[in-house]
Amino acid sequence: MTSIGIIGAGTGGLHLALQLVQAGMDVTVYASRTAEQVASGRMTNSVAHHAVTIDREARLGVDHWPVAEFGYDAHLHYFGLPEPIEFIGRFQRPSRAVDYRIYLPRLMADFEDRGGRLVVREVDASDLEPLSEAHDLLAVGSKQPWVGEVFGRRADKPQPDGPLRRLQVGLWHGIARSEPHGVSIAASPGSGDLLEIPIYSAAGHVTALLFENVPGGALEHLASIRHDDDPAAFRRAVLDALRQHYPRTFERVDDAEFALTGPDDLVQGAVTPALRNDYRQLDNGRFVVAVGDSHATVDPIVGQGANSASASAQVVGDAILEDPNFDLRLMRKIAERRRDRVEATFDWTALMAGPPPAHLLQLVGAMSQDQALLDEFTWNFNFPDRQWDILATPERVASAVARSAARKAVV
Ligand SMILES: Cc1cc2nc3c(=O)[nH]c(=O)nc-3n(C[C@H](O)[C@H](O)[C@H](O)COP(=O)(O)OP(=O)(O)OC[C@H]3O[C@@H](n4cnc5c(N)ncnc54)[C@H](O)[C@@H]3O)c2cc1C
Repeated sequence: MTSIGIIGAGTGGLHLALQLVQAGMDVTVYASRTAEQVASGRMTNSVAHHAVTIDREARLGVDHWPVAEFGYDAHLHYFGLPEPIEFIGRFQRPSRAVDYRIYLPRLMADFEDRGGRLVVREVDASDLEPLSEAHDLLAVGSKQPWVGEVFGRRADKPQPDGPLRRLQVGLWHGIARSEPHGVSIAASPGSGDLLEIPIYSAAGHVTALLFENVPGGALEHLASIRHDDDPAAFRRAVLDALRQHYPRTFERVDDAEFALTGPDDLVQGAVTPALRNDYRQLDNGRFVVAVGDSHATVDPIVGQGANSASASAQVVGDAILEDPNFDLRLMRKIAERRRDRVEATFDWTALMAGPPPAHLLQLVGAMSQDQALLDEFTWNFNFPDRQWDILATPERVASAVARSAARKAVV
């Protein structure tokens, strides 16, 4: 029986593992932490899955959180300009955010229940050769520093040297739902963006506040102020940021209830983007293939890392099932098939996290006047490649804006 080893029990590793075990392969996942340790550990992110990812979960038999109860339907945009601009984009089908300390342990259990083998051990670079010989193919879905060295950054793709934003994300009680129910995306030009995400966690249906702060901007301190030193001062700093920069969220805060859901429900730091090579041939001649963040790491400003990890895992899974020859040809097939989506995700994220160019502002202006264009942009959170079809160049944006104007003229 074909044997596949997967290092890392994140979304990429587990979606690949579940697909292959469903197809009857012998699959081993190596994970540094048990499901219980993940469940009781510190929060590391605040991930929303979009409809195409939820569809994939349904196919994998792990769609445990029905969108009717756990989903949301819209993006509520706010641009804090002297004359604020606001508009609401609708998804064709809902997205959903479930705390990964609930999500990943459940998928780890599903994988084991279906006959997969979960081995709890910390893997490092020196383990790659022996593990590659213990399996027909080894996939790597864990982004340790050594993983960057194993795969190396793609030389043909310009990449930033450091983080584009400085982050703080926490889970909070005391923020009323938006109407419609959705993710609020607010821009405070020069200071940053706030993503206010309805998320299901151990504390119930709560709110993730993901502050995407511009380096050197007025809110950069949110990424480094220490909660445990003075929780009251921390809470005040967050409330001040909402009051001064993100008024639509501030309006829905109930001061008496507003509190972090727990001391572990907070992450601060930064993401250094990286687009690495798809695979590496080891000295023993065997191949290892990258999935998830170990292949492409992006800032969470447009919430694509895990959705991309899942999509890319499916490309790897489909290729293995269709052509189980673990050679250079298979590696090239995988690289070709996921290249456009992964690059589009990387480039779209960089565009949104950087200083906004004139053509992006032109698109925002057009979307504020054209619901169809806005809904297309919103639904394209499912399809980064289609989003990049619109955004890749000033000329493409101009053409989308012209199409929108022509449509409105006809109406
Ligand atoms: C604040 C924040 C918000 C985000 N929001 C979104 C969002 O809304 N939508 C979205 O799509 N993405 C989002 N992301 C990105 C998303 O979290 C990542 O892209 C995604 O989790 C990466 O999954 P992965 O499969 O690469 O594995 P990882 O999440 O990197 O997990 C790897 C797993 O492998 C295990 N492991 C690690 N090292 C080893 C080792 N040496 N040996 C064995 N096992 C190991 C770990 O236990 C871990 O569980 C966000 C990220 C952040 C930081």
